[in-house]
Amino acid sequence: MKRTILAVLLLASTAPALAQPAPAPLPAVSPQVVALRDAALHDELAYGIVEGLTTEVGQRLAGTEAEARGRDWAIAKLKSLGFANVRVEPFDMPTWTRGPEAVEILAPFPQKLVVAALGNSASTPSGGITGEVVGFDDLAGLEAAPDAAVRGKIVFVSHAMPRTQDGSGYGFFGGPRRQGPSIASKKGAIAIVIRSIGTDYHRNPHTGVQVFAAGVKPIPAGALPLPDAEQLQRILKRGKPVTMRLILVSQTGRGQSGNVIAEVPGRDPRLPPILVGGHLDSWDQGTGAIDDAAGVAIATAAAKRIMEAGRPLRTIRVVWFGAEEPGLFGGRSYQARHTEPHYAMAESDFGSGRIWRINSKLGKEREVEARTLQAALEPLGVVPGKLDAADGSDIGPMIEAGAPAVELSQDGTHYFDLHHTPDDTLDKVDLEDLRQNVAAWTAMLAVLSGGIEPQPKQPKRR
Ligand SMILES: [Zn+2]
Repeated sequence: MKRTILAVLLLASTAPALAQPAPAPLPAVSPQVVALRDAALHDELAYGIVEGLTTEVGQRLAGTEAEARGRDWAIAKLKSLGFANVRVEPFDMPTWTRGPEAVEILAPFPQKLVVAALGNSASTPSGGITGEVVGFDDLAGLEAAPDAAVRGKIVFVSHAMPRTQDGSGYGFFGGPRRQGPSIASKKGAIAIVIRSIGTDYHRNPHTGVQVFAAGVKPIPAGALPLPDAEQLQRILKRGKPVTMRLILVSQTGRGQSGNVIAEVPGRDPRLPPILVGGHLDSWDQGTGAIDDAAGVAIATAAAKRIMEAGRPLRTIRVVWFGAEEPGLFGGRSYQARHTEPHYAMAESDFGSGRIWRINSKLGKEREVEARTLQAALEPLGVVPGKLDAADGSDIGPMIEAGAPAVELSQDGTHYFDLHHTPDDTLDKVDLEDLRQNVAAWTAMLAVLSGGIEPQPKQPKRR
């Protein structure tokens, strides 16, 4: 005994890491939750939804006829799966659609590069515009530049976005895309091209939305793939004037989008519903498999599993949001229309990688429930995260306004290799990773549902 104590003391003094208090044990998880979670590891439905939506509809650019076909597809699918109250809540929105695009260095080393317009880019004439390129290593460099250095030129902005598991590089290093065009225009630039907000070295440009600040004249704005951005940097470093011709044709107008909603009715309809979802729209170059067919598929497959098990106490509301990509139009429309309280909300919109962490923001008084969620997911390799923070795209504004939320963080290590590129296609979705997602979402819903009871027996007809 004495020897043991001494050993512990020695360990404690030489290895401070071991002296940390063990985390408090997690609450027990009900056998019902465990059974539902483990069965979901064999899920076929989520993959079927991703395969069907990306094959039979393809890209689903917000506000276009393609997104409308996506809504029709969703309605038919959700009805065939047996969901209740399947409906569309429509809304109008401004639209932006891509036309022909090309970029060429005319001097000093004539060559073609690859480009994609950013959302809300101004259109060039069909023959393009030609100008001298002025390059910046980052957004701060552009911001610090005197207007005279930029006026009448085509701005190029680089950055150093790193690859991370949690996608944290996207917020900060997305600046060149989100603010770069407005800053360049204010300084009198005739156009801007940026290094794609991405992490892959394929020659795929990454599109994405940008919104010109109020009062700023829209200019053509595009993204170069990483290899092309670095090629342009090398050309600029030679120190000779660089002339570029840029063709970014696009059209603007107005269109209709909508949120597709379906429910698993709860035993007590007076209780606030649990909202789970993803977004139906996608960018236009790929088929929107990881962004975000996978998200709507995961949420829907999990809700369907609860429905098959019986009747949850609380209603589960599945939302396939419309028009997320151009600026959370679906989420804002839902928020304006649904002022009723929600028991919890969660959105899957970070690809189809495995879930590695659970964060939640259910409030201090629901800490046991939040820790039960952690316990339910731990066998799937999910790390217990924060209890006072959760995030989501369409649901972000509602979380900010105080809605309780859960965030099942997906592994984003490879997400920005594919995000908003022509490479966002079905073959990138791994069936086993998707199943792990469905299992985690099913367990989450099973815990939040308040318990699932068998369907009441139908009286036998004579
Ligand atoms: Zn998305």
